[in-house]
Amino acid sequence: MPPLAAAADPLAAWFAESARDLPWRHRRSGYHALVSELMLQQTQVSRVLEKFDTFIRRFPTATALANASEGDVLAAWQGLGYYRRARLLHAAAKAVVERHGGEVPSDVASLLALPGVGRYTAGAIASIVHGARAPIVDGNVTRVFQRLAAREGSASDRAVTDWAWREAAGFVSAAASPAASNEALMELGATVCTPANPRCLACPVSHLCAAHRTGKADRIPAPKKRAARRDLVLVCARMTRGDGAVLLEQRPTGGLWGGLWQPPTVESADGESLGAAAAAELLGLGVAVMPAGVVPFATTHRSIRFVVFEAKVRGKGAALGVHGRRWVTPRELPEFALSNAAKRVLDL
Ligand code: SF4
Repeated sequence: MPPLAAAADPLAAWFAESARDLPWRHRRSGYHALVSELMLQQTQVSRVLEKFDTFIRRFPTATALANASEGDVLAAWQGLGYYRRARLLHAAAKAVVERHGGEVPSDVASLLALPGVGRYTAGAIASIVHGARAPIVDGNVTRVFQRLAAREGSASDRAVTDWAWREAAGFVSAAASPAASNEALMELGATVCTPANPRCLACPVSHLCAAHRTGKADRIPAPKKRAARRDLVLVCARMTRGDGAVLLEQRPTGGLWGGLWQPPTVESADGESLGAAAAAELLGLGVAVMPAGVVPFATTHRSIRFVVFEAKVRGKGAALGVHGRRWVTPRELPEFALSNAAKRVLDL
């Protein structure tokens, strides 16, 4: 048996003893798996753990999620970031209702046809929830396979991922329990065979691992080449009223923080040299503001500096709550999806 396929059953046995207690493992369902997989795509498990149960209580079924407004879904997604996934999950729930009567399908082809569901997520739901012999490959799986086989190269190289998909098909074909072996593979990558400092002494398949045998575990896979971050300066205004309301506007759909709410904000390359009057004019505020400071914020692709101005507005500030801007009271605020950056600006 090829070495990677030989790891399938030992990994499943290890998983039976060592699996983390995660809420989406308590009750297996296609819907829970769909929600958790989309949440986990770009967010750490610890953060997803804080949000998953609340989200499921709010939207207990695909039908409940499909019937919710986009604003409600985005608000419930707050804290998980990358809101595009929330929209895709919402669209997937609608497709589940329209095409499958509200039940998340069990076969890979139907799963792949859902918005936001790629090969990995489809394979994970089909195999882990329904026991199908469907392969899964993500960054964790690729790294584990590369190390087990001492296959050099970057985990993001196309040739490496194509190879990993072929190996994953052999792995799941050889497994006595496709569900347990696939989930164990993901678990090993997340908890033992981690990107830095893999815990080879605690690894249940170290006897099969070529990277461990040859002392290369730390060097495989090769580090990914990172693109330089783009610098961005955003001028924004924290406008507050006596009753604690803040002035917010919604970002355009698509692009950075698409559709989320923020304090009035404009991009300006020379924002850091702007005076208060020029900033107020640029932001179309028509009231005097004061400089409040600079808030740095980094995303995967951008290095952002928020140049923050502020003002306390007397009365209702009705003239400011126009052109898509609106005053939002502290009680209303939880219903508005804000990016972490906007929250940080408001907390300054
Ligand atoms: S022995 Fe080390 S490098 Fe090999 S699979 Fe296990 S943890 Fe990863």
